[in-house]
Amino acid sequence: MASPNEQNIADQVSQWFQQAWNPDLDLAAWRRLLVKSGWAVPSWSSDWFGRNLPAWADRVAHTTIRSHGGVGVPLGAGFGLAAPTIYDHGSDELRGKYLQPTLTGELLWCQLFSEPGAGSDLAGLKTTAVRDGDNWIVNGQKVWNTSAHHADMAILVARTDWDAVKHGGLSYFLMDMRQPGVEVRPIKQMNYHSSFNEVFLTDAIVPHANMVGRPGDGWKVARGTLAHERRFAGRAIPHFTQANGGRVIDEARAEAAEHAKTYVWYPQRQGRADLLAERTRQTGQGNNQLVRQQVAKVAAMHRSAELTSHRARAARELGRPPGSEGSIGKLALSEIAKASNVAHTTLSGAHGMLTSGPHPNDAIAAEVIVSTPAQSIAGGTDEIQHNILGENILGLPKEPAVDRGMPFKDVGRQQTGD
Ligand SMILES: Cc1cc2nc3c(=O)[nH]c(=O)nc-3n(C[C@H](O)[C@H](O)[C@H](O)COP(=O)(O)OP(=O)(O)OC[C@H]3O[C@@H](n4cnc5c(N)ncnc54)[C@H](O)[C@@H]3O)c2cc1C
Repeated sequence: MASPNEQNIADQVSQWFQQAWNPDLDLAAWRRLLVKSGWAVPSWSSDWFGRNLPAWADRVAHTTIRSHGGVGVPLGAGFGLAAPTIYDHGSDELRGKYLQPTLTGELLWCQLFSEPGAGSDLAGLKTTAVRDGDNWIVNGQKVWNTSAHHADMAILVARTDWDAVKHGGLSYFLMDMRQPGVEVRPIKQMNYHSSFNEVFLTDAIVPHANMVGRPGDGWKVARGTLAHERRFAGRAIPHFTQANGGRVIDEARAEAAEHAKTYVWYPQRQGRADLLAERTRQTGQGNNQLVRQQVAKVAAMHRSAELTSHRARAARELGRPPGSEGSIGKLALSEIAKASNVAHTTLSGAHGMLTSGPHPNDAIAAEVIVSTPAQSIAGGTDEIQHNILGENILGLPKEPAVDRGMPFKDVGRQQTGD
């Protein structure tokens, strides 16, 4: 049989969509049809809601459904992080229980990885899970947890063995967020949004069946999640323009509006390079040489980053293992955000300190200026990306580490003499 090509897949999706689309269904019922058809994630196995197609078929299916004005899979940590991790590493029981309601958006997820003392050094985390019969009892504190305030479930990494070495004592769980031992406290950011939280875990309960992988596999499974995080980071919030699209569209529009409350500042954190030319005209600075240089520099960086990301996507869709493009792409986004911040600051002058001003988009420029630092932190800081490139691509010596090869419970004692 000839191998499928993009046009062929797009035709099949169109044909299915035109026959299946029913705007009077509720959103979850429509997505259940989508999941059942295998077009929600066609790259997955046909045993688990897919069609055994290459990775690029996911993108083709999503864009084809959107081009017909239809509704695809939900945004957020559920589809982006939890579902692919459960698909890759979960037991059949977990796949059967969680994949479908995650793909339909009936279950909302958050990521409970970072801690006050463990962000870049994630494997140093201290939240602890202790086995108690068929359950694990979890105690500790997580932080910077996006959308935890409306999540039903969490992907959680916790330490289950303090006698094992740092990376070997971690396990990965799917935890119910709606239980008494989970307290979520929103954090107010300097851009006035509040998209992430602190999460305090006090005797929270996770059934043993909700462990992904085996005890001690937590680091391996978490690395898989982090690889998916880079892949899904850029999905845009959809706009539904149809005035009377029916119940599915109404519910999808409400879902996108709710989602936007958390992520509305994400374009600003990327620097809003798309606004720079317009801002240059608005502020009458088209003849200012400094402005022209700064705006042109951002445009050039943006274009070369796009080409790098096309290369990364092409390699991924051909099934090649991730190379340096992920870290380079992540760093490029940070550099563009910083250069864009500088250009917006030059264009705005003192107005950049105000949340409103004489020009349309003044408020957005002000938000860009205080939001771009997050681009250099989220999903692995710039310094960590430099380390990854240095060690994995350039072959430089590994960072010195004082905490390897010893039980994690003894880490730190050699310095303090405890
Ligand atoms: C917008 C946003 C959303 C987020 N969402 C989530 C989420 O949903 N769930 C979640 O669990 N976490 C989330 N995070 C947390 C994020 O993963 C961490 O902030 C990140 O990993 C950095 O960790 P940290 O903040 O503890 O900084 P630290 O690790 O303490 O780093 C502080 C500084 O030291 C530098 N540094 C640290 N180690 C090294 C080293 N070895 N070499 C050189 N420099 C180093 C860093 O680059 C940084 O400049 C989010 C963060 C942001 C900004």
